[in-house]
Amino acid sequence: MKTWVRGGTVVTETGVQPEDILIQDGKILKVFSGGPYPETEGAEVIDATGKYILPGAVDIHTHMDLDVGIARVIDDFYTGTAAAACGGTTTIVDHMAFGPKGCSPWHQVREYHRLADGNAAVDYGFHGVLQHVNDEALDDMAQIAEAEGITSFKVYMTYDYRLDDLDLMKILTRAEKEHILIACHCENHGIVTYFRERFVKEGRTQARWHPVSRPAEAEAEAVSRLLYLARAAGEAPVYVVHLSTSGGLEEIQKAKAAGQRHIGAETCPQYLLLDEKLYEDPQEGLKVVMAPPLRRKEDRDALWKALKENELDTVATDHCPFTFARQKQQGAQDFTKCPSGAPGVEERLILLYSEGVVKGRISLPQLVKYACSNPARAAGLYPRKGTIQPGADADLVILNPEKEWTLTAEQMHSGRLYLL
Ligand code: MN
Repeated sequence: MKTWVRGGTVVTETGVQPEDILIQDGKILKVFSGGPYPETEGAEVIDATGKYILPGAVDIHTHMDLDVGIARVIDDFYTGTAAAACGGTTTIVDHMAFGPKGCSPWHQVREYHRLADGNAAVDYGFHGVLQHVNDEALDDMAQIAEAEGITSFKVYMTYDYRLDDLDLMKILTRAEKEHILIACHCENHGIVTYFRERFVKEGRTQARWHPVSRPAEAEAEAVSRLLYLARAAGEAPVYVVHLSTSGGLEEIQKAKAAGQRHIGAETCPQYLLLDEKLYEDPQEGLKVVMAPPLRRKEDRDALWKALKENELDTVATDHCPFTFARQKQQGAQDFTKCPSGAPGVEERLILLYSEGVVKGRISLPQLVKYACSNPARAAGLYPRKGTIQPGADADLVILNPEKEWTLTAEQMHSGRLYLL
């Protein structure tokens, strides 16, 4: 079975070229111009004239079927990956939830296979999670990497299963040895806890206090500390998830300028496109209760500039959807009780095209780099995923640059099972 994608313009992170693509049995057989080539004989033809052809997008920060204790997200692996596919994302790498206290890292690997296997509409992988540290957990990390091909593990510097500096040093030194990438949620737990406790005590519990309770300093300090720990651990490979502030960005720039290698950084569309003014309305503000919170316009500008100048690595989503009508209302009287998160897996690619490429903030090859190629690299999937070349999986997005449409909630596929 062959498919010939004809007449389109192929976009990769290195360039934009009018080229045809020949696919056989789900793999790219040939990328060519000119022709005709005898290999195309008998192929089904897809006319891509006037369209861009991008590698299928890769979202390496999603939370399908996540149970946060006070609520469960409304996308399971089926609805969430169907939404992803509808938005041009053909691979996700999901962050596992914490398991029961004291459980082995294997516990969640098994749990996530149970949730995802046979249930996903696109290709998927997982990041492991470390919620405590001892010799056994570190050995398990190495075994999971070997046996499962899970080459990245997440750690948190806040929340109930946060790890302290000693724990992080043990993980980072081992990760460096095993070539495992440590993804980290960087917020200073003391700063966040201080403000949350104080605001609740003082009755300052409307959504507008949420961003004040997680100030930019909490992120910048934690990013800085992670990077110093990674450096002390022999330049362990680290990846800062959902970077939201110019302060955090500056810490990354500083570490890179000092020569530190193996630093990856991700931001998300919400930190590029929305800002903290959305918290002013106590109801609407609940929709954007997430951690880290939305920031100032100056932070958005700094993040776009960093993308333009190739100082960030990926744009992922942190897809974590709750219903506004019910689940988000748990926080109507107290933002600390609001399930934290927002959707994005379906919207990411088109938002980056519309607000990034069309508005001249990033180039088309940069769009591919941030949404496809670098995420695939970070998850150990490149070049099978994230690019268009012979031998790669034939996951393609055909994008019509002429089509204009308005993104509305009704068109989105996230949470469809819940709505039916
Ligand atoms: Mn997340």
